[in-house]
Amino acid sequence: MTIRKILIEPNKILRQKSKSVEKVDREVQQLMDDMLDSMYAAPGIGLAAIQIGIPKRVIVMDISKDNKNKNPMCFVNPEIVWKGTDKSIYEEGCLSVPDQFAEIERPKSCDVKFLDYSGEPQFLKTEGLLATCIQHEIDHLEGILFIDYLSKLKKSMIIKKLSKHKKENIDRIVV
Ligand code: ZN
Repeated sequence: MTIRKILIEPNKILRQKSKSVEKVDREVQQLMDDMLDSMYAAPGIGLAAIQIGIPKRVIVMDISKDNKNKNPMCFVNPEIVWKGTDKSIYEEGCLSVPDQFAEIERPKSCDVKFLDYSGEPQFLKTEGLLATCIQHEIDHLEGILFIDYLSKLKKSMIIKKLSKHKKENIDRIVV
């Protein structure tokens, strides 16, 4: 079990576009294992590889919010092939934008194709929280954060807060 450090905005790496995975081999599975460990430890319900500094198109999620009955999901090279016209609004947060939340409107449902943990092609119809979560995570693969959907003013206020927090953290030790 390896818990990796999650990158915090502002950070140029988070703005990078992630590259497709050619083959789901042991190394990629190890990455997914580490990502799941890091996500559960944070705790969060989704994590993209770029958030731990790896620019690969890999996402892990678990929206069950149930410690006893975990439902880890792994997506390699996920691609949204259809988006519904109905919208839904959730208050979103992000492990790379700590303690900041905002209401974001996204398509309520979408269909996704991807490779699973074993490298098998899969097709999934999603709606509600699952649809929002997967869209949020796929945005990470394009270097997009949820705060990019906010007004310039709101976004700059959040980035200012995060930068200040980073500075304050320099000499702080939490053990
Ligand atoms: Zn996020």
